[in-house]
Amino acid sequence: MSFKPISDIGEFGLIERISSIVAPTRKASSRLIEGIGDDCAVYELSYSTVQVATTDLLLEHVHFDLLTTPLQHLGSKAISVNVSDICAMNARPCYALVSIALPSKASVEFVETIYRGMSETAMLYNTSLAGGDTSASPAGVTLSVMVAGEIEKEKLSYRKGAQPGDLVCVTGTLGGAAAGLRVLTREKDVMLEHLSHGEKYDRDIMSNLEEYNEAIRQQLLPSARLDIIDFFHKHGIIPTSMIDISDGLASDLGHICRLSGVGVHIEESRIPILPQARHIADEFQEDAVNYVLSGGEDYQLLFTLKAEQFSSIASHPDINVIGKITPEDEGLLLTDIYGMNIDMTTVEGYNHFQG
Ligand code: ADP
Ligand code: MG
Repeated sequence: MSFKPISDIGEFGLIERISSIVAPTRKASSRLIEGIGDDCAVYELSYSTVQVATTDLLLEHVHFDLLTTPLQHLGSKAISVNVSDICAMNARPCYALVSIALPSKASVEFVETIYRGMSETAMLYNTSLAGGDTSASPAGVTLSVMVAGEIEKEKLSYRKGAQPGDLVCVTGTLGGAAAGLRVLTREKDVMLEHLSHGEKYDRDIMSNLEEYNEAIRQQLLPSARLDIIDFFHKHGIIPTSMIDISDGLASDLGHICRLSGVGVHIEESRIPILPQARHIADEFQEDAVNYVLSGGEDYQLLFTLKAEQFSSIASHPDINVIGKITPEDEGLLLTDIYGMNIDMTTVEGYNHFQG
């Protein structure tokens, strides 16, 4: 038997292989409406309500670096990224389970600070921290969070459901998280270089980060857009499809299109890019649009809406229409600011195990 390296098939290929092995377990519960494939699993609670559930891992050196991440922010982000997946189903979070693995040299205060961040943020989302698990870790800190939420069955938004003619909308501004990470990584490298010459830690050798504050904030302290879900519920809006932007606009739009069997046409000029992300891109001689398309971690909502419902979102200051759903055979197109059409399937999103 030969063994295939995971990098041959990437993260999404691996999830497909896992999916086919676990598929028979679906028979164990007729109440499981949706399993692998969407932002959350969906479980029927009653004739009219469902529970949605999601889990996300945060690993030191993979998802965060303790040199550039305040502990309270780390705790907060662990909760927000999960609540964001609950929002992507048009649902509200109820409770969370938190598991943590720690090197035995970590201090009690270290752990308490992470939990203060989690607790404060969970309260903002009206979510209870309800348990978890604790273990020693041979290397690095690992946080694993599961969040469960609830929603009326008829209000659910899946990734599937987008139809030609629907408007494509995003919340907030994009590109900030990737731009913020770019700056933080540079500052870390400057600091390590400084220390490697035997010099003492000195805050002053780092740039003044004030001018990057919004981008860094989007990277370290993202918010789940529960305010948008409240707005949807208040105005009776049910997006025809929805996902949260965790892997980059191109990849996450790709999930909506593949699962809905549609194409999409986006106009670059309509994408709301964080102004600081543009400045940072200029500084690094990069293109801010690439931060948006493949950077990820913005945790904004990407959703589609029947064109007739445009008036219901038109007045919202934080929702922008960036394009339109098209028939599947028209592909995934981005018209750039020069009028050139770019095939978005050629843009790489974040994919663990990429070779
Ligand atoms: P998101 O970016 O919204 O967190 P992911 O890309 O992590 O979603 O996951 C996509 C889908 O694959 C989800 O439905 C998730 O539950 C499922 N999934 C991911 N990893 C695994 C795994 N190891 N075992 C089973 N399902 C998984
Ligand atoms: Mg998601």
